[in-house]
Amino acid sequence: MTDIKSMTLEELTAWFRDQGEPAFRAKQVFRWLYRGATSFDEMSDLSKTLRQKLEETCFITAPQVARKQVSAQDGTIKYLWELADGNCIETVLMRYKHGNTVCISSQVGCRMGCAFCASTIAGKVRNLTPAEMIDQVLFTQLDSGAPISNIVLMGIGEPLDNFDTVMKFLTLVNHPEGMNIGMRHISLSTCGLVEQIDKLAQRGLQLTLSVSLHAPDDETRSKIMPVNRSVGVEKLMETCRRYFQTTGRRISYEYAMIDEVNDADWQADLLASLLKGTPGHVNLIPLNEVEESPLKPSRRVAAFQKRLEGHGVTVTVRRKLGGDIDASCGQLRRKAMKAAQGEGR
Ligand code: SAH
Repeated sequence: MTDIKSMTLEELTAWFRDQGEPAFRAKQVFRWLYRGATSFDEMSDLSKTLRQKLEETCFITAPQVARKQVSAQDGTIKYLWELADGNCIETVLMRYKHGNTVCISSQVGCRMGCAFCASTIAGKVRNLTPAEMIDQVLFTQLDSGAPISNIVLMGIGEPLDNFDTVMKFLTLVNHPEGMNIGMRHISLSTCGLVEQIDKLAQRGLQLTLSVSLHAPDDETRSKIMPVNRSVGVEKLMETCRRYFQTTGRRISYEYAMIDEVNDADWQADLLASLLKGTPGHVNLIPLNEVEESPLKPSRRVAAFQKRLEGHGVTVTVRRKLGGDIDASCGQLRRKAMKAAQGEGR
């Protein structure tokens, strides 16, 4: 069976041609898919025979809402979706003045092992498909009624560890007949896979790359982010500089503030020196506490910010949305997994 929503319009056109169908059929079907059609029956401008043929050879993905939490504070919505194989992933809808933003997952679980992150505790189960990534945007929009204008790939998973799928997703979501979301409205966050960052640079996309730095020194970074043990901070920063030179796009560096781990003045000084000569911007994230982890939120966010600003670094502190609904990614899936394990006992 063919996963029809994972196909680009070009692939779909070729597929229809192979079936002896005119090329414009591809566009018709493509449009239906991006209107949220979940069966070929709904595609009323196709002949019955064609609909039947599609039914027999293709399937249309459609996740089920397993749980939905709406924040009473700020209208943030968190979805736990159940995929066709029973796995669950999370998507968060955030409402900002500049538009509605969805934070989407790229994998079921994650294998990067960051010490502060809930998504990686049980490891990686599998990669998502392009369709499963599209569905998060599409069905969040349909279910909430909120038109989506921005996407951040900051949910469960490491997007650059599912590189080809993520590239295809970007093509689909950007396509005028698809979700039609501009590249400049998309951010991709990575823990810092250097080879893939170089590969991404070659694509010359206008998206925003966010690099999860979280520490400026190898000792600290290797402790909290295993990925740093093979490629240290220096090589990562070299790669980031190269990314900027190739694409002309400024990188946003994420820095989760952890109590007495990465929040000392000397670390702010070192961070500022790393950024010298590369235009970039630091986003300080108040740590979300994860039950399984002993790490605590820093009490020095403002002081750290000031110290960085003193060095001329552009710094923002991420506003916390959906604090009342476990909105930081990985937590809802984790809870659901634990509940399921409890039931199984
Ligand atoms: N794998 C990618 C994208 C997913 S995580 C990455 O590493 O960038 C999205 C962001 O949330 C990353 O910066 C990640 O480090 C951060 N993050 C994960 N757990 C967190 C927590 N408990 N508190 C604050 N930020 C967290």
